[in-house]
This record gives sequence, structure tokens and C-alpha cells, in this order.
Amino acid sequence: MTSDGPDAKKQKSDDDWRRTSFKIADVNPHLVCALCGGYFRDCHTITECLHSFCQVCILAHLRQNKNSCPRCGVDLGPHPMTAVLHDRQLQAVVDKIFPEFEDIDRQARQARRSLEAPPSAPRARPRAAKTARAPEEEVSFKVEQAPLAAGEEPLPIELLDKPYLKTNGNLKVGQLRKYLARKMRLRSEELELLCDGEELSGEHALRFVKGTVWTKPSELVIQFRRAAGDA
Ligand SMILES: [Zn+2]
Ligand SMILES: [Zn+2]
Repeated sequence: MTSDGPDAKKQKSDDDWRRTSFKIADVNPHLVCALCGGYFRDCHTITECLHSFCQVCILAHLRQNKNSCPRCGVDLGPHPMTAVLHDRQLQAVVDKIFPEFEDIDRQARQARRSLEAPPSAPRARPRAAKTARAPEEEVSFKVEQAPLAAGEEPLPIELLDKPYLKTNGNLKVGQLRKYLARKMRLRSEELELLCDGEELSGEHALRFVKGTVWTKPSELVIQFRRAAGDA
């Protein structure tokens, strides 16, 4: 065969190039915020429907008392801020494909910081503001498969990609369960969440779990397992 000559090689690299650009075009709509039309910055995902937006965009939308997803209109209830999860996973995808944005973001943040607090006269934040913000406190935690019973089939944890999550502390266990179940392509009734061996009630907020069920000084760990009797 003579197809391995320089022409064939050129043809092959052209094909590779076409395939790569097609792939980026294919994922593009999933990396664009419907509110600003740009690529996600500090991507946040609504746990009810898994639609994603930039942090500033979705928070501005919710602050205008619009308690619904801007894309599908799903109702987010009376406390919509708790239905939004910081999506490091999706943001990591954006940053990987468009690394220059991450650099621009970092430079912009540094510039903003040096404007806000020049080193000669650091501005102390008023204590009252911190107290007022306390209910919005973020909670970081790790999610992992609970120890398997004999013969129990492990859950597809690889679909979660990254086991570390950070979210508004007011997020309910039930909302987290729904989010994890969707990521692992399960119904939320098929999943049970535990903390330190104790099964968690869907009504409890994560900051409550962190303050009461989890008493260790280390980072909060939420375990999940297939719900009993729903195999
Ligand atoms: Zn946006
Ligand atoms: Zn939606």
C-alpha cells in the first residue's frame, strides 16, 4: 500500500483537526450561559433541573424575585438560593477548553481586589455585614459511596467525576439527594444519604447536618447508598 505517504499523513491531520473542531462546536451550547450568552464564569447549577448559569447571572435573576429556572421555568420554591449548587465540575470543563478565560478572570479579580483594598489603606469589612451573611454560609463536603453490604452493587460514582462539592449551607439534604441521583441517572427515591453512619432526613439543611450530625473537625463527608428495598 502507498497510502502512508506524506499526502495521506496530511489528509489524516486535516481529518483530526476537523473532528476536534466539530467536538468543540458540539459541546459549546452546554458551556454557554443562557442569561449573558458567554461561557460560564463560576458556574452554578440548579439542582432541580441541572440547568447551569454564571454565578452572577443566576444570583441577579433570583434576586429579582424570579423563583424559577430561567431556561425551563421549574419552580424553585420560596428559598431559590438554596436550590443552586456551585458546579466545579462543569466550570473545570470550561476552564480546560478555554484556559485563556481563566487567566483573564484571575487578572480581573486581582485588579478588582487591588482597587478595593489598596495595600496602603486596607479597608476592614464591617462586622455587621458578616453576621447578616451568616445564613448564606457555604458548606464544603465530600460525597462518597457508603460501605457496601455483601453482594451490593456499587453506584456509578464515576458519573459524579469530582467528589468534592461546595454549596449554600441552606441546601436541603433532599435537594442534594435529587442532584446526586440525577447525576448518577437514578430516581431520587433510589438513593439514601448518610452522615457518620446516620441516615439523613431530606428536610435538614446541610449546615444543620454539619453542625449536629457531623462532629469531627475534618471536612464533612456525606455518604450515599442504594435505598433499601428499592433494588
Ligand atoms: Zn452568565
Ligand atoms: Zn431549568
